[in-house]
Amino acid sequence: MVSNIFSSLPFVDGRGGITCRGCLGESLFSGLDLGQLPIANELLRSKEGSLEKFPLHLRICQDCGLGQVADVVTPERIFRDYRYLSSMSTTFLQHASNFVEQRVQEGRISKDDWVLEIASNDGYLLKNFLPYEIRTIGVEPAENVAEVSRSLGIETISEFFSSQLASKLLNENGYPKLIIANNVMAHVPDLVDFVKGLATLCGPETQISIENPSLANILVGMQFDTIYHEHYSYLSASAVAKISRMNGLHLSRIEELTIHGGSNRYWLTRSTSNASTDPSVDRFIEIEIDNRLFDPEEWMSYSSKVSRILDEFLEWLRAEKKKGKLIYGYGAAAKASTILNSIEVDDGLISAIADASLEKQERYMPPHGIKIISPQELFSECPTDIVIFPWNIKVEIATYLRSNLGDGISLWCAIPEMHQVCP
Ligand SMILES: [Zn+2]
Repeated sequence: MVSNIFSSLPFVDGRGGITCRGCLGESLFSGLDLGQLPIANELLRSKEGSLEKFPLHLRICQDCGLGQVADVVTPERIFRDYRYLSSMSTTFLQHASNFVEQRVQEGRISKDDWVLEIASNDGYLLKNFLPYEIRTIGVEPAENVAEVSRSLGIETISEFFSSQLASKLLNENGYPKLIIANNVMAHVPDLVDFVKGLATLCGPETQISIENPSLANILVGMQFDTIYHEHYSYLSASAVAKISRMNGLHLSRIEELTIHGGSNRYWLTRSTSNASTDPSVDRFIEIEIDNRLFDPEEWMSYSSKVSRILDEFLEWLRAEKKKGKLIYGYGAAAKASTILNSIEVDDGLISAIADASLEKQERYMPPHGIKIISPQELFSECPTDIVIFPWNIKVEIATYLRSNLGDGISLWCAIPEMHQVCP
């Protein structure tokens, strides 16, 4: 086992009295300091407006391997006006439907069982259990989104998941056979209470599925634009193993997924003396150590690399603008906000950012109020160059842009470093 590997690593400064959200240790070192940034999903209502800024500093715990940023922003602020509907992404819908089919095919879940999903959003996943008449309960704090789920006939509780809610669910329903917590643990400020809640509901036959992008994506894949205030935690296999163990759970298996630019699915069970462990667990942990995921020096050289990539992006924008190019952006996503605010992009370098979401159009991306327009407006404004910010779907977007603007349009991506998106 490699569980004690972290204790052999040298201590590096950067504690500042900060406690790890996962293991409550105090050996955190600096991974990447992006400075003061606005909340990635908050947009300006006018070009002249301004947004409150908060420090965005990724730190990594040497005791458990969890990446984290300080929770300077409350979940209530982030999710009070949550407009993301999982069902808007066809890739995501297919992924959810495949997941449920696999679970049903395994034959572990019968009509007498029940399934819990935490952060069940609009019912994008749980609705797939309806034809099998398997009882489900969703937990979704955003009331407007939970209402969509209820309209499909899915029992949905509008609360943040906690150990207290877990006890209530257990008393009323017994142990669920399956708990699904996809892309939610990153958003939980009190991670220990959340994991305690999972442990409360984990019966002898319960399986827990947790999907989340890995901290390794940020380091190895240069995905530093996925660091936002909304993402309090950045999971690693090492961290999930240790935090589970500390709270009476057992990491039994890990699967690698391609969704969201690369995610891991962690399977947890109740911790018992004879709980089995698939070889994938040690394999993932060893790969993380081989990639120097918990090595402060590796992160120091990573910080320099990120600075260079950001500088090159800014220089590229200035040089192209000087040549008279008309540069636009595509995708006013959180990723775009992290990059553009990290470099404090000059006013006017990017003419506008197109986004298909009606919620975002007519708003402005900080720092200097870049207008968000519809794709149709983009097509009528004759751009010469477009920077695609959601690199995880760049091929899909490039195909769409070329079909509307012709093959003469130059398409670019700034991650992992500035490159042209070829047909
Ligand atoms: Zn820790």
